[in-house]
Amino acid sequence: MEIHNGKSIRFWTELWHPLGRLIDLVGDSGPQQLGVMQNATIDEVFVGNEWRFRNCRDSTIRGLAEWIKEYRIHLVTDVEDGLTEYQSLFSSGETWNLVRTQGEFKEWSKAVWFTQGVPRFSYITWMAVKYILATCSRKRSWGQIQGCVFCGEPEESRDHLYFACPYTFTLWLEVTGTLLSNGASPDWNTTLQYLTARSHDYLYIYTCEASVSSLGLLHMDREE
Ligand SMILES: [Zn+2]
Repeated sequence: MEIHNGKSIRFWTELWHPLGRLIDLVGDSGPQQLGVMQNATIDEVFVGNEWRFRNCRDSTIRGLAEWIKEYRIHLVTDVEDGLTEYQSLFSSGETWNLVRTQGEFKEWSKAVWFTQGVPRFSYITWMAVKYILATCSRKRSWGQIQGCVFCGEPEESRDHLYFACPYTFTLWLEVTGTLLSNGASPDWNTTLQYLTARSHDYLYIYTCEASVSSLGLLHMDREE
């Protein structure tokens, strides 16, 4: 949908953002955690050129809020929302390409975003790649002191979680060991390079991405 006055586009359930339907990324708890009603329209959330979000602890939701703020919109109050004039189907990807400044292609993106992927899995894996998961080393900069929720390591970081931590590495081997054969490594960069090289095999990538995101979610659950 092309956003004009924002009065007929549902924030959570319609395709207006390049990431896809936002409810698919965060699940049913998203509306409550972000303080945005499930049936809210864009104009009810974007008021006075600012997004009205509730502060929340969940790093997945917080990351989504930052990502939404980066996607700049401008409401025109006297024009109804609608489909673009030059095509009958909306393409969030094409719309995103029209409004963004295109950056350098990242090779790893092939192992994160793919057509058959589950949006939520891709999103959490993307957060891991971008180093924006709320691991302990990041939370320390916010004044919160806590070690690894799995093994107690005080210097927990993204690289510890994937997969220098003996606990998560064991789980990783249990789930993907046969699939990865000799490609399983406790080093995050090695793992990401390995997955990128196998990105043509989407079932393989899907399984690994599901494991990465599940560990991320389990990590966040244990922090609560
Ligand atoms: Zn650990």
